[in-house]
Formats: sequence, C-alpha cells, structure tokens
Amino acid sequence: MTVHPFMTTGPDGRTLIPGGSVYRPPSEHASLLLQVTVGCSHNRCSYCAMYQGKRFAIRPHAEIEALLDHYAKLAPAPSGRVFLCDGDALIMPQKRLVSVLSAIRERLPWVRRVCSYGDTRSVLRKSIDELKELRALGLGMIYHGVETGDEQSMAAIVKGATRAEAIETAQRLKAAGILHSVIVLLGIGGVGGSARHAEATASLLSEMDPAFVGALTVTPVPGTPLHDAAESGAFELPTKFQMLGELRTIIAGADLTGCRFSSNHASNYLPLRGQLPRDKAGMLRALDQVLAAGDERMLKPEWMRGL
Ligand code: SF4
Repeated sequence: MTVHPFMTTGPDGRTLIPGGSVYRPPSEHASLLLQVTVGCSHNRCSYCAMYQGKRFAIRPHAEIEALLDHYAKLAPAPSGRVFLCDGDALIMPQKRLVSVLSAIRERLPWVRRVCSYGDTRSVLRKSIDELKELRALGLGMIYHGVETGDEQSMAAIVKGATRAEAIETAQRLKAAGILHSVIVLLGIGGVGGSARHAEATASLLSEMDPAFVGALTVTPVPGTPLHDAAESGAFELPTKFQMLGELRTIIAGADLTGCRFSSNHASNYLPLRGQLPRDKAGMLRALDQVLAAGDERMLKPEWMRGL
C-alpha cells in the first residue's frame, strides 16, 4: 500500500500510531510528525481539551526507531523538518531525547530541523548545557504556549508556571541557540481581565523577545473547566472586537527586536502576519480599520474557525 509521508502511521504502514489525534502548529504543516510521547504530562490547563482522556506516556525507544525505519523509506518532508508530538515532547528525560534526536539524524539524513512543543516546566527541567546538546543534535525550535503575561490569569488557567519562569525559559532557549516561538491566547483573561491580560502579555513578550509569536483566540471547549466557568457565568468571553482590541494592545505594546508575529491560526477572527518592529504600523492600521468599522463581515465567519 502507498503511505502518505505525513500520516502518522505505525511501522507496518497501516495501523494508526497509539494516541489517536495529534496536534501541530500551523507552520509545521509540511513537517513529518513523529509522535514520541502520548498526551501531555501537565494536562491541566483549564481551556485545553487536546489530550483529555489520554494518559501521558513516553513511547518506548524501540517503537520510535521502528517508526523512523518506516519513515526512512518514504520521501522526505518538503519542509525538511520533523515535528515531535504530542503536547510537550521536551519533557522527555535528556538521555531519551538525545537518543531520539540521534536516531532521527541517523535514519533521516534529509532533516534540517527538529521542532517540538515545550512548556515552561519542560524547558526549565533542562540546563543551558543540556539544551545546547539538543541544539547540536538538530532541535532547532520550541513552540511555547505562555498564553498570557498576567500572573492572575496564568494562575486561573492552571498554566503551571509563573511569569518569571516564562522569562527564564526564553533566556535559556536563547542562550542555547534554539528558536523560540511563543503562543499567546486572546480572550483568556475574560472580560474583567481583558485589559490586564493584553498589557501584561505585551510586556512579557518585550521581556522574552522571541523570534516568533503566534496569537490564538480562546474558545471554551465543552468538557473543559473553562467551558464550565463560561456556562456558570464565572468566566465571560470577551467579544470578537474586544479580543481584536487585545491583539492591538499586544502588537502596539510589545517591544520586539526581530519577530515574525502572526494571528493566522484557524481560531482567529482576523489573520495578520508581519515582521516586528518593521511592520508594526501597517498591522496596527489594518486592525484599526476593522475596529473602527465594527463590522463582523470583515471577520472570519464562525464556521470557518477551528481550534
Ligand atoms: S500544557 Fe499545552 S497540551 Fe498540556 S494541557 Fe496545557 S495547553 Fe494543553
């Protein structure tokens, strides 16, 4: 049978790998997805339903090697990249991660960069020297969901990290030469915390100064604590235009020295992309036009949004 190179299939080319659905950032659409862990070791963020019902596990190394042997027979991914799934593959112990990266090198010589999700906890479990070791073996970029710079909101969503730790994470990745892609979540402070969330997120981004920022828009998903809070009235989701106002505050306030900023994730109402600081004025102009018009027809319709 023909196996599409981007299907996460088992070594026999037919069975789906354990763990069901896998998630990846939009920019990894042309990457080979390699599931090295199942689920998320934290799995407590109040808005996240991605890995509900999945018990966290690190896949046995022999299984990962068998997958790589299978992928070695397929065409290279056009991006030249491998993306490590699931939620926080970086949480793997250093030795295991070194073995995985070495095995990728050995079996897939076309790979130019390995990328992974990694949260504050998983990065801070590693020293700068350990991160440098991973960098030398091909780990080139970490996608890091900080969601907000506001301590109060961070605690409310059970992010499992503080603002100071998020900044330390950025510093360690920078010292190790690993590109840092930070994810923030519009609307996560609710109506009451909207301004505080946006301002604190802008200042956090200024302190982290990452190479990439992706803004997503929160959607209370049934079955999550955030959805329960929205149902009970304890959490009030800001309006679409309030969330775009947050985006404006973040872009205007973030002092970034060289950052690709995007809001092109499927969850967003207004896709924007630009290089900051170069494109700041243009991005703010585009946002101001939409905010001034207040016309929902200028936004992505609800049915076109995804999580
Ligand atoms: S760390 Fe990421 S994957 Fe894990 S629960 Fe939080 S948002 Fe979901």
